[in-house]
Amino acid sequence: MGNESSNDYSFFEGVSRNFDKAAAFTNYPSGILEQIKACNSILRVRFPVKIGDDVEVIEAYRVQHSHHKLPCKGGIRFSMEVDQDEVMALAALMTYKCAIVNVPFGGAKGGIKINAKQYSEYELEKITRRYTTELVKKNFIGPGTDVPAPDYGTGAREMSWIVDTYTTLNPNEVNAQACVTGKPISQGGVRGRTEATGLGVFFGVREACKIAADMEALGLSAGIEGKRVIVQGLGNVGYHAAKAFQDAGALLVGLIEYEGAVYNPSGLDLDAVVAHRKQTGSIHHFAGAETILDSAQALEYPCDILIPAALESVIHEGNAEKIQAKIIGEAANGPITAVADEILNHRGVLIIPDIYLNAGGVTVSYFEWLKNLSHVRYGRLEKRFSDDMYAEILRLIESTSNQKISKIEKKIILRGPDEVDLVYSGLEDTMIGAYQEIRDIRERVAGVSDLRTAAFVCAINKIGEAYEELGIFP
Ligand code: NAD
Repeated sequence: MGNESSNDYSFFEGVSRNFDKAAAFTNYPSGILEQIKACNSILRVRFPVKIGDDVEVIEAYRVQHSHHKLPCKGGIRFSMEVDQDEVMALAALMTYKCAIVNVPFGGAKGGIKINAKQYSEYELEKITRRYTTELVKKNFIGPGTDVPAPDYGTGAREMSWIVDTYTTLNPNEVNAQACVTGKPISQGGVRGRTEATGLGVFFGVREACKIAADMEALGLSAGIEGKRVIVQGLGNVGYHAAKAFQDAGALLVGLIEYEGAVYNPSGLDLDAVVAHRKQTGSIHHFAGAETILDSAQALEYPCDILIPAALESVIHEGNAEKIQAKIIGEAANGPITAVADEILNHRGVLIIPDIYLNAGGVTVSYFEWLKNLSHVRYGRLEKRFSDDMYAEILRLIESTSNQKISKIEKKIILRGPDEVDLVYSGLEDTMIGAYQEIRDIRERVAGVSDLRTAAFVCAINKIGEAYEELGIFP
């Protein structure tokens, strides 16, 4: 075990270590495994942007980890932590993630090394548009080559700047809207994308909690209801995951942001905490809750389920022993370091790994990309037909049974699916199916005892199969 507290800890090496551990349970020759593991293309750019009276040189990256399926796919983050190692690791995770949830993309990731809070909206727009121009110049963006999405510090607003810049530079590209996902609906986005990752996190943890035998091994009862949950990070992923847990009857006992945390064993009202934070500028001193000034320490508070949904490496060699949660749902990418992973597995904690659990975003991004390529909204063709057919079925039931169906029941049944219904249904089905596949590998393959290794085995087998189909192997 290496020392992870030093600055030379490599996130990419951590991912590779997990890969190697899993590769031992597959039958591919070492050359193919090396090819699956390596980052195929790395773009590092520095470009000038005028900020106020000065010119700032911005450092940015785009890494395409795998071209075994195209386009490559992965988010763009704005963070001061961005460096080549981080972007490579995140791109690799995307490859494995797509394979696990059967999304036919290679993995990629982008990053701009900035603190977004230090720039005005106008300045952020200039930086984002210039970054997109660099990607176009180097052929690192396009509906069939590489399709970015939101990640830490970016959202629909940044994606709309990217699609506009790309479209301007490619006026004859009929599928230009498909160059990026996570767009606003008016720009070709799909309903349900914003909450997709958080909702996917919930579906994944719910699936794990459904299995009574696995819960019994942890000393927990089956089901989500009444489970005590701590969520770290109330951004896009954390907020929507927390909301879904609360709506399903779980108890949000702890909510953590970068300035501190609040904890209440009787449960916190998510929206009230968010409103309090907005109003006062801090999560501290929410009525009726304990304030924890050191946000990292809040990870160690009592709970059943811990959802780290902020940044990577927050659970490490230094705090892994103190984590009290029985289940950790990795909503963020790489929140547990390799050494901490070993410690937690040894302690019997059920870790639901990022490469599966936060794949809801890329799953719905895939739906958005398909929508853009087909140039038609989901449900547009069949909604009226379904409405009429359901109405006819109800009329027949009423006339043959001689019983009236209540207005409320009719309203529920007489509704053809809207876009958001289809997207949620596709997401839920994907998350359930993928969990079962991974768990099945853990149960079936001798020597595999944790879900992360099982998820990597699942990914390696699918990517190896793709290489076989490509004719590169044998
Ligand atoms: P976001 O920028 O919307 O939210 C991040 C939140 O974390 C912010 O509220 C921020 O204030 C908070 N935060 C920052 N440092 C913190 C700290 N030390 N302690 C507690 N909170 C802290 O980002 P996001 O899109 O929600 O992404 C979060 C994580 O999920 C990242 O690891 C990202 O790679 C991963 N992820 C995101 C998506 C997506 O669709 N957005 C998909 C897959 C994975």
